[in-house]
Amino acid sequence: MPEGDTIFRAAQTLHRALAGGVVTRFESVYPKVMRVADDRPIVGRTIHAVASRGKHVLITLSSGLTLHTHMRMNGSWHIYRPGERWQRSARDMRVLVATDRFVAVGFNVPVVELLSDAELARHDELRELGPDLLDPAFDAAAAIQRLRDRATDAIGDALLNQRVMSGIGNVFKSEILFVARVEPFRAVRSLTDNEIARIISTAKDLLRAAVLPASKTLSPAFGRRTTRSLDPEQKLWVYARGGKPCRKCGTPIEARKTGIDARLTYWCPQCQP
Ligand SMILES: [Zn+2]
Repeated sequence: MPEGDTIFRAAQTLHRALAGGVVTRFESVYPKVMRVADDRPIVGRTIHAVASRGKHVLITLSSGLTLHTHMRMNGSWHIYRPGERWQRSARDMRVLVATDRFVAVGFNVPVVELLSDAELARHDELRELGPDLLDPAFDAAAAIQRLRDRATDAIGDALLNQRVMSGIGNVFKSEILFVARVEPFRAVRSLTDNEIARIISTAKDLLRAAVLPASKTLSPAFGRRTTRSLDPEQKLWVYARGGKPCRKCGTPIEARKTGIDARLTYWCPQCQP
């Protein structure tokens, strides 16, 4: 499942390739999208910007239209040069936006919508998004309030709730709580103000570190690493490390399936009492 950092980087890459260009070709397999495009042609519009909001990607076009996509579990965007062979089957194409320089292809993207400015402003899912951890204007106080509003939720579940704050997926959930030394199943109301503040600042730091250009992270590539280790085998503290020794104390890492989609939560019972 792509997390906020992955979507943020995808949006940045799309922005570099597409922004300022004029759409020369637009396709989607979704009839509803093509109906809008029939009424309000996309070809000929200038691409103003590509940006992420939480796990959503918004491609802003001239004359008040925005292409909204969400990757959910399996979607991805690829960028090709015109005529270049795709790395995925054309059957998986859901949406395509081309300029004279690049072809951006959304594969298995389940949510594709063309929205007017008014529709964008009243879009339920976008409107309800909590503060975006990767937004430079991230509002920590608002995030703390939204977290406190989920008093009876387990903190691990609350972090995944995009209405509380947006950008955290399953990998970061476990990593943030390890670094903040908080057990994932504690109810939000049991957390002290200090713990809440530590969780939010850790979340912000880890997600932002994951989107820094390689030259600023000492790592050979972009990447999701939370340990600061340069060893690719030691990128994460607890995620996917069930049964292995904790990198800090040696205690075996625990793993448990939780939530409606039974995703695994990882934690160290010693470091996260
Ligand atoms: Zn430990």
